[in-house]
Formats: sequence, C-alpha cells, structure tokens
Amino acid sequence: MSKSTDELFKNVISHAKEYGFVFQSSEIYDGLSAVYDYGQFGSELKNNIKTYWWKAMVQMHENIVGIDSAIFMHPKIWEASGHVAGFSDPMIDNKDSNKRYRADQLLEDKIERYKKDGKTDKAELLQEELDEALKMENLVGLKDLILAHEIADPVSGTRNWTDVRQFNLMFSTQMGAVADDADVVYLRPETAQGIFVNYLNVQKSGRMKIPFGIAQIGKAFRNEVIARQFIIRMREFEQMEMQFFVRPGTQKEWFEKWKKTRLEWHLALGTAPKKYRYHEHTKLAHYADAAYDIEFDFPFGFKEVEGIHSRTDFDLSQHQKFSNKKMQYFDPEIDPATEKPYGNYIPYVIETSIGLDRMFLLTMINAFEEEDLSTEEKQDSRTVLRLHPCLAPVKAAIFPLIKKDGLPEKAREIMDKLKLDFNLQYEEKDAIGKRYRRQDAIGTPICITVDHQTLEDNTVTIRYRDTMKQERVDARELEKILGDMVSWKNLLA
Ligand code: ATP
Repeated sequence: MSKSTDELFKNVISHAKEYGFVFQSSEIYDGLSAVYDYGQFGSELKNNIKTYWWKAMVQMHENIVGIDSAIFMHPKIWEASGHVAGFSDPMIDNKDSNKRYRADQLLEDKIERYKKDGKTDKAELLQEELDEALKMENLVGLKDLILAHEIADPVSGTRNWTDVRQFNLMFSTQMGAVADDADVVYLRPETAQGIFVNYLNVQKSGRMKIPFGIAQIGKAFRNEVIARQFIIRMREFEQMEMQFFVRPGTQKEWFEKWKKTRLEWHLALGTAPKKYRYHEHTKLAHYADAAYDIEFDFPFGFKEVEGIHSRTDFDLSQHQKFSNKKMQYFDPEIDPATEKPYGNYIPYVIETSIGLDRMFLLTMINAFEEEDLSTEEKQDSRTVLRLHPCLAPVKAAIFPLIKKDGLPEKAREIMDKLKLDFNLQYEEKDAIGKRYRRQDAIGTPICITVDHQTLEDNTVTIRYRDTMKQERVDARELEKILGDMVSWKNLLA
C-alpha cells in the first residue's frame, strides 16, 4: 500500500468514527475484535444501500420476491449444505508468539514474496503444491510446505509451529434448557440456506413459475481466523443474496445475465468503471459450474465485494436427501424437443451474493474527498462525502441565518412540511460556513437557508454540496427539487 492510499484508508476510518458512521463494538470495554456498530449516519447510509438493492432486485423484477428467514435453523441444514464438514480454514499457531494464522495465507504470502523477488519458478511450484494440498485437505502437507519454505512468524520471528488443524468458521450455541449435543444450533454463516429451504413454500404460496428468484437481506456470522481491514472481514456481517431458480441446461445464459446485471447495479451509482473488475474462479467448489467475483479497487488492492455463483442443483438435492422431502418443481411448459411438458425436476440455481458492509465501505471510500479550497489570499480545505443523493443519510439541512427575528420559526415551518417525505436536519448553531462544512462531511446534498428576505417573499437560499454554488428559490419549490434529486428513478431507470 503506498503512503497516500494507506493514508486515505486511515482517514476514511477515522472520519467514519468522528461523524457517527461506524464505531468499534463495545468500545468502552476496549472493543470486540472484528465486530462493529453503525452509528446515526452509518445506519441511514446502510439502510439506503439496502433499499437500493431491494428495489433493484425485487421491485424491478416481477419474478423475484423477497423473504426474511430466521438466523437459527435446523442443525441438519448445515450438514446437508456441507458447512459442518467443510466450512473451515486450516490454521496454525506459533508457539512462541501464541499468534494464530491461516496456513494457506502464510503460503500465499510466501508466493507473493517469491514473485516480488523475481523467483517465478519457485512461486509457480509452490502454488501448485498448495492447491494440491488444499484440494486433498492434506494438513500435514501444508505444515511440511511451511517448514520447507522456511516461513517464520512475523511477530516472534521463529519457526516453532504447531500442527495444522481445521478450524470450523461456524458459531454455535445451545437452544433450549438442556445442554446436550442434540440442542446445538448454529448462527447461519450465509443467508442462502434460508432461501433454499423455503423455495417450495414461496413457489407454491406465490404461484411462482420458473425462472424465478428469491431475495433476502440479513445477518451472517463467521468466526474468521484472522479478521482485518476494518469492516472488510467481520465476524458478524450482513449479506444481500438472491437465488435464481432456473430450468437445468439454461444456467449458463442466466449466469451471464446476472453477472452483467449486477455490475450495472454497481456502476449506476456513478463509480468509474475502472474501479471494478471481474475475477473468475478457476478452482470451483465441488457443487459449482461457474463462479465470478465482482472486485473493487480498495486502497489496499482489488477485493471481492460480490460473488455470482452457478450452484447447479447441489443445495436443493442435498436438502431432498437429508430431509426426505421432495424438492422437485413441476414445469408444465412444453419442451419443443420432445413436444411434452418439461415435467418434474430439481431447478438449477444462480446466486448473487453481496456483502453489505463491504458495499458500505466501498461507498464511503468512493465518496470521501479532502478538497483543497485555497485561494491566493488564504488556505482552506473541506472534507466532503460526495454520496449519491439517494444514498445520502440526510437529504437536506435547514438553517435559519440567525437565531432570532422569527427566522427559526420560519425554518421550522418549512422543515415540518418537508420532513414528511425526507430525512432532514435542522441546525441553528454556529456560523453558516461551519454548518455547511458539517453537512459536507456527512454527505448532505443541499443546505437550505432561511433569512430575512424569506419572511418577505418566501424565498430561500439553496447551497449545493458538490459545487458549493448557491441559488435563490421559492420555498414552495423545495418539495419538487428535493423529490427530483433523491428519486430512485435516478438509479433504477
Ligand atoms: P472471502 O473470500 O473474502 O472470505 P467469501 O468468498 O468467503 O469471501 P462468500 O461466501 O461468497 O464470501 O460471501 C459473499 C459476500 O459476503 C462476499 O462477497 C463478501 O462481500 C461478504 N463477506 C463474506 N465474508 C465476510 C466477512 N467476514 N465480513 C464481511 N463481509 C463478508
């Protein structure tokens, strides 16, 4: 990370705290590792991102509906999905520092170092050996590689390692009063399974016809071995997922469609296309027949924000097997090849899965600017969040120019009408310039000032966040100006 990008990231993190976007969880108790709380403006921004996703996925598609399934589910679900046996990372501890690492990441870091030192042959060979060991779940092999390549703990500097062990990422707890094995339940590590186990409920009660989708936004929990980079890797986070059920054999075309549609959703916010890229998975999970990540250029490099996966009929078939309940769909449409109905089958699934917290961070980083406003006479600068108006936590701030002469009353009168439709802030403290800066820092698109002239002709001054330009308008026009500015049409059309 270069100095300037490192600084940008640090500045965004401290800005997020200072202005009530993101706080460390349990801060007064020195925090809880990799758990965060969203503050007064952060939760507004997060809600607006959710609304944008929900509208784009559910409201804009007649054949997609949304659900809200429980975090706790029958423990058998996680056996069927493969999470109990396979949702784990290989970890290793250094006996001198007592620090824990992911064995595969230590080796990945070593490969990067070989590449940097121009030792491409060594890097390629190690990559092959690592892939093979991971595929075969050869934990002894992983440790042998760590020893053979003389990897030392960055903290203690020693090579005094424990054996490599599998570490399951699922959190578990007990349900009910009696603590025995039968009562173990997991905190879901993904929201998708809540959709799979409800797919027939939704299909039947909603008379859905294939192809159709089910969307959901909700919390997911993973006991990540190493959590780092602020809200990129958390132990409690939020996902926005959509499972799209299709006729077997059509998954390729639907995969391409969703891959494209999802990137368009990101770009509609006005982000420069060069900030995004697709990353194709070359090593596919055993159940997948295609997988792409949508990556964003964070200050610390390109990183996954969203995954598009073609999951075949793996999950539904597994649930059919484990639950003994039919997961088949009857497709009455006529197959032109056989001139008979397609009949009964287990649908294939295309999944789009985006991390809300990573989307939040991306949005903050994209919007954050420290703008130099210096002139020849004086030095000046401001911190501004250039958020899309649809996402901005506060849509407009209303200021009386001074705290007397009936201006506060007039400002409140204007506010009382507008607040029925928009999230607004009223501020009368400090000089106008200071108030502008506070609103710039939280991304408020416009500020509305009420002055003595307002009392005479009912006009107000609007000051725009991005251009800092001002104009005088009739107060009766405010509803339309604000409405046009924050209309979801601007993003969805
Ligand atoms: P990674 O490789 O970064 O661990 P993943 O491939 O395990 O991610 P998925 O299981 O595909 O991630 O989850 C879908 C999305 O959920 C990811 O694209 C990411 O945005 C988000 N996500 C996954 N794990 C976390 C986490 N620990 N904290 C925050 N967001 C996460």
